[in-house]
Amino acid sequence: LLISFEGIDGSGKSTQVELLREYLVDAGYQPLIVREPGGTDLSERVRTLLLDEDVDIEPMAELLLFSAARAQLSREKIRPALEAGRIVICDRFYDSSTAYQGAGRDVAVSEVDNGWLKELHRRATGGLVPDRTYLVEVDAQTALDRRSSQRTGPDRMEGAPESFYTRVASAYDILARNEPERFLRLDGEDSISGIQGKIRADVDRLLDSARTG
Ligand code: C5P
Repeated sequence: LLISFEGIDGSGKSTQVELLREYLVDAGYQPLIVREPGGTDLSERVRTLLLDEDVDIEPMAELLLFSAARAQLSREKIRPALEAGRIVICDRFYDSSTAYQGAGRDVAVSEVDNGWLKELHRRATGGLVPDRTYLVEVDAQTALDRRSSQRTGPDRMEGAPESFYTRVASAYDILARNEPERFLRLDGEDSISGIQGKIRADVDRLLDSARTG
């Protein structure tokens, strides 16, 4: 089972990932949790580069660096874990690149869900598609407010204006509409436990149907 979490910075998705991990471990599973960018030696180094305030990165270069990190992570970690029957949870996956690099950075704003961007994701991941994607939604202003109250250290993305996050959020909206079977949208303004309750109920259903084939 391959599960991804998506949402703009400050949506609270990483908190939800951690709570789901605890739930699955308590139930006797050994889920693999990976974050993007990161999760392998190479990908963590690419992450450091991508988040470095002192490095100037063109939008197209940014897209390809994220894709490179994803290619390594997909082959080195995600696919072997899936083949071993483990549940894999990705804190961000290729939808983040569609939303952040495609729409946010304007690399392929008109191609949010088609064309070469989709093909790039397909090739980078070797064809992996999440069985479920949890989209934690908050509006751009809420996300910015949350971020400024909990600074997470130097991050090249930190100075992005509200309009950037508005473009990212609207790309996520299009993706979720285009693939309603894969996406489950969650209101990020709900309580942490309320959101987690919905996720756990859904994961239980997914595990049930995986078991019964
Ligand atoms: O999800 P997390 O907060 O760890 O992401 C780290 C940073 O990378 C964030 O600032 C996020 O906005 C950015 N990012 C991005 N494009 C992606 C994935 C993450 O700009 N495809």
